[in-house]
Parts: sequence; structure tokens; C-alpha cells
Amino acid sequence: MHEIFIQNEDQRAILESVRRFAEEEVAPKVAELDAQQNPEDGFSWDIVEAADAMGLRTLTLSEEYGGLGVDSLTTAMVVEELGRFDLGISVVFAQTLKLAQIFEKATNPEQRERHLSKYRDDPRHLFAIGITEPETASNYFLPQRAKAPYRTFAEKVDGGWVVNGMKHFISNGNVAKTYLLFVQTEKGVPLHEGSTCFIIEQGMEGFTIGRVHDKMGERLANNAELIFQDFFIPEENLVGEVGKGHGVLSEFFPQSNAYAAASIIGVAVNAYERAVEWAQTRVQGGKHLIEHDGIAADLAEMRMLIDGSRSYIHRAAWLADNQEHGWDRSLGALPKVMASQAAWKIVTRTLEIHGGHGYMKEAGIEKLMRDAAAFLHSDGVNRTLLLKAAGFLYD
Ligand SMILES: Cc1cc2nc3c(=O)[nH]c(=O)nc-3n(C[C@H](O)[C@H](O)[C@H](O)COP(=O)(O)OP(=O)(O)OC[C@H]3O[C@@H](n4cnc5c(N)ncnc54)[C@H](O)[C@@H]3O)c2cc1C
Repeated sequence: MHEIFIQNEDQRAILESVRRFAEEEVAPKVAELDAQQNPEDGFSWDIVEAADAMGLRTLTLSEEYGGLGVDSLTTAMVVEELGRFDLGISVVFAQTLKLAQIFEKATNPEQRERHLSKYRDDPRHLFAIGITEPETASNYFLPQRAKAPYRTFAEKVDGGWVVNGMKHFISNGNVAKTYLLFVQTEKGVPLHEGSTCFIIEQGMEGFTIGRVHDKMGERLANNAELIFQDFFIPEENLVGEVGKGHGVLSEFFPQSNAYAAASIIGVAVNAYERAVEWAQTRVQGGKHLIEHDGIAADLAEMRMLIDGSRSYIHRAAWLADNQEHGWDRSLGALPKVMASQAAWKIVTRTLEIHGGHGYMKEAGIEKLMRDAAAFLHSDGVNRTLLLKAAGFLYD
């Protein structure tokens, strides 16, 4: 933790208790959960309940609703700390902490009253967000280029909407209680002109969970399909205005990319620390690996990539809450690209520094490689995010 740029004692206290939680409740369970064959068995309610008991699950909920009201910069630090121990655990909570923040901003007082008290009081209440579909994926990151609709369609009926279609790859999809769902509400126009955001809850009739995806890494988090068959959503679950769903996505998610970046830089820190330790203990060529110039230079570069990515993440997370001080929209797209590229480079180099030992499962490096690959694509494929940022910077 020493290398994180902590700015006040509140942050220090929160990070210390998150580290204690991760050491006691997460670390001892990671290897066994990661090795489960059935992807659903990688998810642990024990960890969620332990996180609830120490206040982590509702960290970002404002004090008005019974949370701690922690800001986005501190949350990014927390998400990184969790990522050092396990990427999946970091994602389970990053999604929930992010969506609690967004929910509070994007919904009306009656919706907040109805849903946030349930979230606060249920130790197993997690959030998820359903946007990606098999046919409409990167398209929603680049809507002006793609000019595509969502295939999942909500038809207006008396008192609400009837939804048919599906979403996939949804983090916490099978374990969440409350979701923000983005669907098409107008035919013949692209999603940025005719989609709408709704609140939905697990257990509503017509909404079922499909396949739980079998992922190569990030296995302590579950991702699932959401299936909608003549699924009725009542009027009171509409978020914002009909047809303005894309506005909800672009207006209320400034810190999302920074949190994703923080999760993956946690994995990079884990790899880097292992690489330094190995280089300090392994002797070849008559001296410790770290005394060989090539390896020392590699390690310094890894440290630089972590520090540079973290500074970018912290700037984006702080400005997301303080936009009047210079927020620019590329900060909502680029930190994750930088951090995930850095993490990929750092884990592959950690493998190299470990030599043949790194390829053996017991070294733990192969898990970090499987995990690091997730964020080249999660929260937007990197190339798509670069194009999205280019749109903000140059169009
Ligand atoms: C672990 C994980 C967790 C996720 N969690 C969620 C979640 O909770 N909720 C959710 O809604 N989604 C989630 N997603 C979806 C994620 O955000 C991505 O948007 C999605 O995976 C990308 O879609 P795709 O795989 O179909 O790629 P595609 O969109 O098919 O892209 C394939 C390739 O084509 C490139 N490409 C696409 N369009 C263009 C273009 N216009 N110009 C140039 N190149 C282009 C892409 O960069 C990529 O390299 C998750 C994904 C993963 C892997």
C-alpha cells in the first residue's frame, strides 16, 4: 500500500481495513474458488457477507441512505487494493459500488427510497448493469459510427413496457438483486436516439438468468446472460426520459472507466511484487537476478507503468467528482486502456522473470495472466475505447 498516493487519514483508515478484510476473508479462499470447474462455484457469498459486515458493500452510498458516502478517488484506491488480492472480487464490488453511485444520481427520489433501502439492508444485495448483447456490443461505445439499435426491445403498453430479448457477459448478472437495463424503445433509429434505461430486479416475472459464462480468468466474479420473455416493466421503473437511455450512460458514468482501470492495476501490482521478490531471491549467473542490469531495468519499467497508470486513474477518478476543475471526456475512456495494456505487459514480463518456474501453476503467475486478459476487453474493448476517446478529442 505504501506506493499508493494517499492524501488523508480517512483514506488510510479505509484502505487499511480493506486490506485486513482481503487478507483474512479473500486471500485464503482465492486458489480454491479460482479452480472450481463450474463457473457458478467460483462466486462466494461468504466473501460478500464479510464485505458487508465491514461496510465495504455500501461504501459509496451517501450518508443520507446509510452508507459512508466515499468519493470516487478513494473508491478507486479500494478497488485497486481488492484487485491486488483477486480481480474477480474487485469486479464484484467495483460494479456494486459504481452502480450505487450512479443509481443515486440517475434515479428519482421515489426510486431511491424504494431501492436503496433494500440495497442497504440486505447483506447479499449486489448491483449489475445490462447493456451488451450478442449483436450489439462495441456498437454502444461508438453509437455515432455504428448507427445500430439494441435488439432487445421494450414495447409500450398500458402502465409500462413489455421487453423481449437478451443481454450477455453481464458481471454479477446471476447474483445481483437490482440492475440498470438499457433497451431499445423506438424502432428504426440507432440506440443513441431510441433507447431507454430501466430499473429491474431479479425475480420479476419474465426475467430469467441464462448461461453463466465459463471465463478463462476473473473466475471469482460471475458473468451471465439475462433473458427477457414478455417481461413487464412497470412505468415507475423508468430511469430518466424515454429515448434518452444513451444520455444516462454518457452522463452518469464518468468514474466507471477509472474503476475498471483500478481493478486491473491491482493485478499488475500483485505481479510486480512477485517479480521483485523472485528477482531478489533467485540466483543465476552467479548473482541475484535483480543484480543483472536487464532485469533491474525491466522491474523499474514495470514500476513506472504502474505509477503512471495509477496517476491517470486518480486524476480521472478525482475529476469525475469535481468536473469543474478540468474534466474532459477522454478521461472516461482512456485510463482503462492504459492500465490494462500496462497490466498485460507486467504479467507477461513477470512470467519471463520467473523463467520455467512461472509456467508452473504453483507459482501463481498463470492465474494473473488469465485475469489480466479480461480487461483488454471488459468495460469496452481497448481499440473501441481509443476510437471513442478520439471522437471526444478530435471530432
Ligand atoms: C469479463 C467481462 C465483463 C463484462 N461485463 C459487462 C457488464 O457487466 N455489462 C455489460 O453490459 N457488458 C459487459 N461486458 C461487455 C464488454 O463491455 C464489451 O463491450 C464487450 O465484451 C465487447 O463486445 P464483443 O466481445 O462482442 O466484441 P465486438 O464488439 O464484436 O468487437 C470485436 C473486435 O472488433 C473491434 N471493433 C468493434 N467495433 C469497431 C469499430 N467500429 N471500429 C473498429 N474496431 C471495432 C473491437 O475493438 C474488437 O477488437 C463484459 C465483457 C467482459 C469480457
